[in-house]
Amino acid sequence: GDEITADMVDDISRKHFPACMRNLHNALKRDRHMKHFGRLQYGLFLKVLGLSIDEAITFWRRGMSTIQDDKFNKEYKYNIRHSYGLEGKRANYPAKSCQQILMNDQPGSGDSHGCPYRHFSPENLQTALLSMYSSQGLTSADIPEIMQIVKGGHYHVACTRVFEITHAKYGIRKDNGVGDGESVTHPNQYAAKSRELEL
Ligand code: SF4
Repeated sequence: GDEITADMVDDISRKHFPACMRNLHNALKRDRHMKHFGRLQYGLFLKVLGLSIDEAITFWRRGMSTIQDDKFNKEYKYNIRHSYGLEGKRANYPAKSCQQILMNDQPGSGDSHGCPYRHFSPENLQTALLSMYSSQGLTSADIPEIMQIVKGGHYHVACTRVFEITHAKYGIRKDNGVGDGESVTHPNQYAAKSRELEL
């Protein structure tokens, strides 16, 4: 895919990331640290987005700034290389789908992974969505519809609706989904469709 550098991630996150990855990105900036499942969810997403191994190491070295260099090099660098299939079993790990994020490894306190539509309280979700997406056209008038969908347990449908609203400037309308009426099934699909629209 396209080459993405560590420097580009912040800008791309604001324009093209679904809520789960916006949340992880913002949590890393705020905490300057991230726990295992968050690093796994976000790291594999960034790999598929197009971050090379070198750019990934740069990104995480800068991001995990509460960690000393020797600890970073010993533990975290190995894990990043592992997720790129360069250590251990050398498996090419795919990024997690919405289904996996929704069902597996439920986040506990201090965790930032998971799906905000499912794992945030209604109050926190509303606040987070407005803070993430109001610059892309989401308003408080859109919130009741989204919360209704969330209440029905249709988390990926809520995410799809947010995609439609935040991409209205590209001519995306209700029920267009991420294209051809498709709904969101994978965070990388969300980001890729969003980036395509910008081109
Ligand atoms: Fe992420 Fe999928 Fe949840 Fe959207 S529905 S926030 S892409 S896990």
